[in-house]
Amino acid sequence: MLSTMQDVPLSLATLLRYGSTAQSEAEVCTWTGTESRRLSYGDLGIQSAKLAHALRGLGVGEDDRVATFMWNNNEHMAAYAAIPAAGWVLHPLNIRLFPEQLVYIVAHADDRVVIVDGSLLPLFGPLLPQLPAVRHVIVANGDPAQLQAPAGVQVHGYDELVADQPETYDWPVLDERTAAAMCYTSGTTGNPKGVVYSHRSMWLHSMQVCAGNGMALSDRDKTLVIVPMFHAMAWGLPYSALMCGASLVMPDRFLQPEPLLQILAAERPTFAGAVPTIWNAVLGRLQTNPQDISHLRAVIVGGSTAPPSLMEAFEKLDAPILHAWGMTETSPLASVACPPAGTEGAEAWRYRLSQGRFPAAVEARAVGEDGQPVPNDGTSWGEIEVRGPWITGSYYDPAGNVTDPDKFHDGWLRTGDVGTITPNGYLTLVDRSKDVIKSGGEWISSVDLENEVIAHPDVAEAAVIGVPDPKWDERPLVAVVRREGSEVSADELRDYLADKVAKWQLPERWTFIAEVPKTSVGKFDKKRLRAQYAAGELD
Ligand code: ADP
Repeated sequence: MLSTMQDVPLSLATLLRYGSTAQSEAEVCTWTGTESRRLSYGDLGIQSAKLAHALRGLGVGEDDRVATFMWNNNEHMAAYAAIPAAGWVLHPLNIRLFPEQLVYIVAHADDRVVIVDGSLLPLFGPLLPQLPAVRHVIVANGDPAQLQAPAGVQVHGYDELVADQPETYDWPVLDERTAAAMCYTSGTTGNPKGVVYSHRSMWLHSMQVCAGNGMALSDRDKTLVIVPMFHAMAWGLPYSALMCGASLVMPDRFLQPEPLLQILAAERPTFAGAVPTIWNAVLGRLQTNPQDISHLRAVIVGGSTAPPSLMEAFEKLDAPILHAWGMTETSPLASVACPPAGTEGAEAWRYRLSQGRFPAAVEARAVGEDGQPVPNDGTSWGEIEVRGPWITGSYYDPAGNVTDPDKFHDGWLRTGDVGTITPNGYLTLVDRSKDVIKSGGEWISSVDLENEVIAHPDVAEAAVIGVPDPKWDERPLVAVVRREGSEVSADELRDYLADKVAKWQLPERWTFIAEVPKTSVGKFDKKRLRAQYAAGELD
């Protein structure tokens, strides 16, 4: 029989309505370089209504995609709130992709309207003539006159467009499975792939972010969202903040360690999320310019493995790292490394170093090379496959065709990550399947080697790739960025590793570089490193 419960669809409009009334005093604070522009959630409700009216006035209708080309700021947050609530599809564009990828994505998603930050016009302007479907460009935080638009494209100033619009909007009731937002993967292989989130998936995901064994986000928190709003929906933090009344601190374009530390000092957030390369850079700066950051109750690290040395350093600063794993395809939060109740000391630490525990909604298994699940015994490796209400079941295709069938396996998403799962549901990643190094029939985890090398005090960054070897098939090559003033040599680093890794894993190839190339979301770009090696640039 069916339940007696009311069938109320889960909708992001509910989060906006709740955030802007019951939690109206929470704030979005956007850094300007010297101070924050503050927008209360009450006023966010008004700004969102005005934006929705303005977009509707431009002819945006059901299912239409509205793209953003923006930093994390108040206006981007209003777009996050208004566009899905009005029944349209928010599409945050990754401003760091190559122009040809952006042209492909905008055409693929069929974006008709783009909201652009004024400071990004030099990047966006040259793209516009290659985006024939775009009809309207709205310039926020800048001068629309700076944009030379081709015929047929109307350019509007954000402030003027929303100024005289009504302050309330009659948000429609939607089927909870309706598309709310879409993100494209960064396309490390082939074209970027689109993932479309529903109101239901985002709602349930937000509850997980707020859950105790998730990130325990609440109205006592002020969250510095360094992870870009185009990177897997800023890890769900904006909608979760509306759900629980946490305030948001947005860094806008001030993403270097020095301004980030200024923001930390000025706003004293309790919570902050970014990829490890950002935290590593912040740590480097803190070593020469110490500052109290103990107001951070949790520093969320995801996107790549949090190196143990980084976690130890933040622990000493009384700003504990909370390690989380996920991907664009998983909304993205799929596991969080809260240690089990009752564990402490070294045991709790081991759990915290792992990629975390899966919540009830995310089922996971490790699948061996024969396509069969391996046991969840904490040692058997396999490709991690997941399924659940906020995991994508396919990639977006405008014609509705099934694409990339090899990314799915009997209704499970194949993550491309290789790892182990313990009986109590903790994931430890060994590597990305394309990064793992096959040496003489044995596997070497590039991540494990990196974690060991980066722990050396003279090393600022270290990335390991597999390179062809006539005898062993592949051997590791370690690309090292020395700390300023250091002259540490390959022999010294090799000696340092000697008692830390198995002898046969000990790398004989080392190269010293000025900087590890980064992907559009700030991770080590191993594809580029491999290309540099192939071109003979890494000797
Ligand atoms: P991209 O593919 O551009 O890196 P995503 O952020 O969607 O964009 O990448 C997801 C991938 O990032 C995962 O499949 C995994 O390889 C890696 N990843 C995410 N979180 C972690 C983590 N905590 N530890 C190790 N790897 C991680």
